[in-house]
Amino acid sequence: MKIHNFNAGPSVLPKEVVIKSAKSVIDFNESGLSLLEISHRSIDFLEIIEKTISLVKRIMNLNDDYAILFLQGGATLQFAMVPYNLMNKQAAYLDTGFWSKNAIKEAKKFGKVKILFSGKNNNYTYISKNYKIPYNVDYFHCTSNNTIVGTQMKIFPKTSIPIICDMSSDIFSRKLNFCQFSLIYASAQKNVSSAGMTIVIVKKDILGKIKRNIPSYMDYKIHIQNNSILNTPNVFSIYTSMLTLEWIEKKGGLSFLEKKNQYKAKLLYNEIDKSNLFENIIHRDDRSNMNVSFFLKEKNLEKEFNKMWKKENIVGLDGHRFLGGYRASIYNALPLESIQFLIEIMKEFDRKFSS
Ligand SMILES: *Cc1c(COP(=O)(O)O)cnc(C)c1O
Repeated sequence: MKIHNFNAGPSVLPKEVVIKSAKSVIDFNESGLSLLEISHRSIDFLEIIEKTISLVKRIMNLNDDYAILFLQGGATLQFAMVPYNLMNKQAAYLDTGFWSKNAIKEAKKFGKVKILFSGKNNNYTYISKNYKIPYNVDYFHCTSNNTIVGTQMKIFPKTSIPIICDMSSDIFSRKLNFCQFSLIYASAQKNVSSAGMTIVIVKKDILGKIKRNIPSYMDYKIHIQNNSILNTPNVFSIYTSMLTLEWIEKKGGLSFLEKKNQYKAKLLYNEIDKSNLFENIIHRDDRSNMNVSFFLKEKNLEKEFNKMWKKENIVGLDGHRFLGGYRASIYNALPLESIQFLIEIMKEFDRKFSS
């Protein structure tokens, strides 16, 4: 039975990745042992870490100024780890949604936070491009894709201040000049792997400039020295990431995925814009190519629409619990046919219920 998986995270992964990672749990590399039964310090696992690091670097076109880490604690721990390691006195943040707000909340525990733009007054449906980054902040923090409301930054500021970016929900979905960022973090469960692992990409020269004492697990420098095995890492999630990155490379890398993702998103937005019953309230330039949110103009039709998609093996279309409405998360691994299928359902609903 074909299921169309629009879950926001954990979310759809490439079929072949799921099959291979499942196999490794039973019998890892024909060793007779499960991936879950081998030492994280074994040669076999060290090879996996090395391979995953070089795949990240190759796919993102990063040089050796950057270290790649696989940590635990989700993007949520990064909200605190970033200021812990990088904030002396003050930092600048963009408030573009729920996750930005959480990042700001943690940063305030370490110093002064200058909010350069807040989308709060327009329900986060718009992202300003006209903010000025002060010269006297330790870093600038932004969220590239706002998973809940469905906005995405299409341009990043030109500045000499280190740019820190939460890319949890659009990492590996498009081509960017990744060298413009000093630190990128992304929890794996949206576009890469299983939950329980966070990819951190950090430019080494921004570290070591803070006087405070940092607990070992919270210190990027210590993780770099220990090559992500300061403690026992999430071996399963790292291995599954390696498989996804191999899949990305085989498909043709980020330029291929970007085109495909743009095409998928455009089809769906076009249908929403054309339909009589659905609407998307995001500023057009800021629409996300990963999370497409939409609402029924007449709320009393929700029951009918829910009945319709739920019986067609579509899952995960409910909007975030804070927002209601609908959200189609259309990450890298979501097949084009799932978009086409959803569009057919929406068309049918439109025919049936528009007066
Ligand atoms: C999901 C998400 C997070 C939270 O990730 P956790 O792994 O649950 O900590 C943070 N930021 C963004 C943009 C997200 O989409």
